[in-house]
Amino acid sequence: SDASNSTDIAIIGAGPVGLFAVFEAGMLGLKSHVIDALDMVGGQCSALYPEKPIFDIPAHPQIAGQDLIDQLAKQAEPFEPTYHLGQQVIKLEKRDDGRFTLETNTGTVIDAGAVVIAAGCGAFGPNKPPMDGLEDYEGSGGVQYYVKRRADFAGKKVVIAGGGDSAVDWALSLHDVAEKVMVVHRRPKFRAAPDSSAKLQALAEAGKIEMVIPYQLKGLKGENGKLSHVVVATLKGEELDLEADHLLPFFGLAMELGPIADWGLNLEKNHIGVTQGTMQTSVPGIFAIGDIATYEHKLKLILSGFAEGASAIHAARSYLFPDKEFHFEYSTTTGVPNE
Ligand code: FAD
Repeated sequence: SDASNSTDIAIIGAGPVGLFAVFEAGMLGLKSHVIDALDMVGGQCSALYPEKPIFDIPAHPQIAGQDLIDQLAKQAEPFEPTYHLGQQVIKLEKRDDGRFTLETNTGTVIDAGAVVIAAGCGAFGPNKPPMDGLEDYEGSGGVQYYVKRRADFAGKKVVIAGGGDSAVDWALSLHDVAEKVMVVHRRPKFRAAPDSSAKLQALAEAGKIEMVIPYQLKGLKGENGKLSHVVVATLKGEELDLEADHLLPFFGLAMELGPIADWGLNLEKNHIGVTQGTMQTSVPGIFAIGDIATYEHKLKLILSGFAEGASAIHAARSYLFPDKEFHFEYSTTTGVPNE
């Protein structure tokens, strides 16, 4: 394998928990490579609730999802992690020498001394509406499955599709920034919090949001990969062309363990069973932390994931250097590089 992709620790997943593990590894003098299926770091915080405040991060009375991620990335930065984003780890093999080979779906091969799986609910991706040519408009073309910044939609015509909380919440949130918000749903009833549904109804009646009901997504029109119209249709086949700069389809997220299920680890209902003190899985040298890890009385919280990261990295160091004796040190004693 490429020598530049040889590392002490490979961390699968760049969510909050994976990012903090980079810091912990750095503090123990270990280099990390971090792989994530998403093309950005931040996991659920960045993909699902960047602007929502979190209230239970110690020492932050409140902090928005993306702000937490920005701070974690900054805290990890002095240790110069290598990020491999937009790629899913599809293979993980333990070699006879006790080290590991990881392979991604884009062909990256990584050699690691130990592996920390911080994969959340598995590689996650949006459920996509079945439409021809969808891929041609994804990203900068106008079709997006996540909202990163409301400001990106200022003055734009936005079609939101779906009938759940995400569709309703983003319609409510974007209607006063966007030029126009249209909500496409196949039936009048929404599966969202009653309070939010009522707000949507009120805005629709006030003419501030256009309801396109009962329609379903049918197709896309545009030029040079840039969206211009979303075609919708009723079950009877009556079609409408909605002029739009953006389509935001919110049909839920598919979270799948995917390839992780084939790595010979001890699985418990789609989670990886670990020994809590070390966070080691059933395979020595492979550790699991954060949402994907389970043990008795596990709390699926970011703050638990941070502590699990510290435990896993200490145990990983012992796996890497079985004959060495290490002394526990505080960060106040060791400091961090360039501080
Ligand atoms: P994730 O954030 O899920 O990140 C895992 C990453 O691994 C993902 O980016 C994924 O793409 C990647 N990945 C998975 N498999 C692979 C693979 N094979 N190859 C490459 N990459 C892979 N928690 C709190 O503590 N407090 C709160 O107030 C709170 N509020 C929440 C609100 C909402 C709306 C949601 C959805 C969650 C909330 N949570 C909250 C939960 C919190 O977000 C999760 O506990 C946390 O994100 C778990 O972090 P993680 O790093 O373990 O996993």
